[in-house]
Amino acid sequence: MTQPARRQSTPVRIGAVTVGGAAPIVVQSMTNTDTADVEATARQVQALARAGSELVRITVNTAEAAAAVAPIRERLEQLGVHVPLVGDFHFNGHKLLREHPECAEALDKYRINPGNVGRGTKRDLQFAEMIETALRCAKPVRIGVNWGSLDQDLLTRLMDENSRRAQPLTAEAIMREAVVSSALESARRAGELGLPHDRIILSAKVSGVQDLIAIYASLASRCSYALHLGLTEAGMGSKGIVASTAAMAVLLQQGIGDTIRVSLTPEPGGDRSREVIVAQEILQTMGLRSFMPMVVACPGCGRTTSSYFQELAQRIQSHIRERMPVWHRAYEGVEEMTVAVMGCVVNGPGESRHASIGISLPGTGERPVAPVYEDGEKTVTLKGERIAEEFQDLVERYVARKFARRAEIA
Ligand code: SF4
Repeated sequence: MTQPARRQSTPVRIGAVTVGGAAPIVVQSMTNTDTADVEATARQVQALARAGSELVRITVNTAEAAAAVAPIRERLEQLGVHVPLVGDFHFNGHKLLREHPECAEALDKYRINPGNVGRGTKRDLQFAEMIETALRCAKPVRIGVNWGSLDQDLLTRLMDENSRRAQPLTAEAIMREAVVSSALESARRAGELGLPHDRIILSAKVSGVQDLIAIYASLASRCSYALHLGLTEAGMGSKGIVASTAAMAVLLQQGIGDTIRVSLTPEPGGDRSREVIVAQEILQTMGLRSFMPMVVACPGCGRTTSSYFQELAQRIQSHIRERMPVWHRAYEGVEEMTVAVMGCVVNGPGESRHASIGISLPGTGERPVAPVYEDGEKTVTLKGERIAEEFQDLVERYVARKFARRAEIA
């Protein structure tokens, strides 16, 4: 699949992961546990990493949280999880990093919000202290602006300048410019303090889709820092997914964005890993990365006799997700596979032929048989009560036959 040309950005190393440059766009996520609870946080980081998060951010908001960071890292190592950890700091980050040097060491990156490092002269001193810690510990930083905590001094200055213009800009334009300027000015300041280009990532998050697109387009044209993309406060359920996708897809298509996070509000008791899956699906459906074999399923219509094909599509999807950690370790390129599960003869055989392996279930009034296609050829016709199980077995056999074993490659 032809991919859009990526904007040239300076690559940044975060632990074993590279963000920017020619590196694949990185999926990241954030925990919502109390960081001071070592076991709960380590377990959630483990779940996020297992779902495919390549960086995980944890909030570091109190002395207890800062003291827990190194033990979380240790616990993760015991669990065999090596995902880089990013510390999210606001208001007291300078103090926490100073008073908890083991926390500063254990983290792989610091997120600094320039709107939340203090006001007036304190802001510059506290910002400088965090950058100096990053320099001393050889860590990269993300300068993460958020319009909900925009640097008020900067905003006031831009508003004043605007009021002196013959034709003042709109308040919306000033807000967008303030978000971009806050990121760029903070990056310049970090550079003056000695932090090299390849240790700085920028983000400028807002909650409106059009604002996000305009802000990142501006940011991308004015610097070469690697960019972390994400819509903040995207919301719950389908609204959060749609808003994040709408905003990020436009930017990713323009080659903008080196790492993404989908900020979904989980349903009560919901799975935090959902944000990782959505981020992967955005990148995979756009053809930018492959994480997981894709299941192509028709929506169903009056021609489908029952919900049987929906159940089969779901079953296959769950089976693939469960098997993927094993397949991924064992087979090279398995994430490129496509599986079609179709509801009737209208589009079923055609779509199945385009997939790596596909099944076309019988629709209303059709013969109760389900032809299976592999690499465009009909290989078998399933019938009877065990179509689902048999198709699942065929998928397993297809994977084993089609993809080279990793050990064999080595
Ligand atoms: S493939 Fe058949 S069942 Fe599925 S949506 Fe099309 S016509 Fe309906």
